[in-house]
Amino acid sequence: STKGTTMRHFGKSSKLDNVLYDVRGPVVDEAARMEASGTHVLKLNIGNPAPFGFRTPDEVVYDMAQQLTDCEGYSDSKGLFSARKAIMQYAQIKNIPNVTIDGIYTGNGVSELINLSMSALLDNGDEVLVPSPDYPLWTACVTLAGGTAVHYICDEQSEWYPDIEDMRKKITDRTKAIVIINPNNPTGALYPPEVLQQIVDLAREHQLMIFSDEIYDRLVMDGLKHVSIASMAPDLFCVTFSGLSKSHMIAGYRVGWMVLSGNKEIAKDYIEGLNMLTNMRICSNVPAQSIIQTALGGHQSVNDYIVPGGRIYEQREYIYEALNSIPGVSAVKPKAAFYIFPKLDVKRFGIKDDEKFALDLLREQKLLIVQGSGFNWHQPDHFRVVYLPRIEVLKDASTKLRDFLSTYYQ
Ligand code: PLP
Repeated sequence: STKGTTMRHFGKSSKLDNVLYDVRGPVVDEAARMEASGTHVLKLNIGNPAPFGFRTPDEVVYDMAQQLTDCEGYSDSKGLFSARKAIMQYAQIKNIPNVTIDGIYTGNGVSELINLSMSALLDNGDEVLVPSPDYPLWTACVTLAGGTAVHYICDEQSEWYPDIEDMRKKITDRTKAIVIINPNNPTGALYPPEVLQQIVDLAREHQLMIFSDEIYDRLVMDGLKHVSIASMAPDLFCVTFSGLSKSHMIAGYRVGWMVLSGNKEIAKDYIEGLNMLTNMRICSNVPAQSIIQTALGGHQSVNDYIVPGGRIYEQREYIYEALNSIPGVSAVKPKAAFYIFPKLDVKRFGIKDDEKFALDLLREQKLLIVQGSGFNWHQPDHFRVVYLPRIEVLKDASTKLRDFLSTYYQ
């Protein structure tokens, strides 16, 4: 009997103490409660294309259906040979040097591989340079692995490019790697070769590894071209991440990969660690891997969305104008992906706490955005909008925001 004894309480691991992942945090929980009680919430918070009417090319679904019965068993830990061959060709097209089939790993989304790549690398106290703002999984995984995410500033005044001097200042004896997110979530920035070159130079000077999250590399607008930083660093060790969640509108299938390149000799032990963790998770979802070859080699429907007349392009044009026309709001025009990261005039609105701002907006206008602090942005003056919804919906959202801000003072 348990009578007379106190009930044992199961707490969470202290490893989670400093882990933050607010893109699905308290404000989203509040939105879920509102929805559960029958309130319609206009959601501009998650970069998930399918629910907004974006569909993967039919051939991708057809391919998976055809192959499903052949995908009942485990695959090689790193992934199917055909999938990795297709990724290898893709890496070659991007001029990534010294890529071999055993340096390509598939994952259940890029997410799994971010976690794995940081877990295999970090000892307590090791430092990794991570952008601010960032896609917060990077900071969370560095932290969970016992490392310290040291945030370098991306500069809104310069198209949200990384501030190289700030990066330089933050390098210490414990710094192991630089993370870049290019194209960027949440800012929509695309880094030109001159900026990438400065990062490569810094990494070379201080012997740092480079992790480059390029999941949006096929969602680039205005005729610009994405350059993989790994293509500029054959003498350094680089890990490049991409996947099909965004380019093929199948975030739910969980298809991602990472590619090791450059000087692998200097990372031999690390690669051993990566291989061990990769073996331990057995393999990534095999039906999802089975479509990689078709997806990368087949019809790139995303190309129709990112040119004038295409949905993502036109929605960007709309949201950029609409947000900038609201008094007290200004935003840099995104060049890639489907996010915009506007600035709020904090003096005008008296904002001290951006989570409170997000909650107030949610409760008053039933409009859900993510506050800047959710992206490790350390001032309460930004928020992220996902502009995947159709223009009519974005119009409704910007009207709600305008109305809200016209009387808001925190
Ligand atoms: N990296 C970035 C920059 C992202 O924005 C996302 C998703 O939003 C991911 C990685 C994770 O993508 P997935 O796990 O679906 O491949």
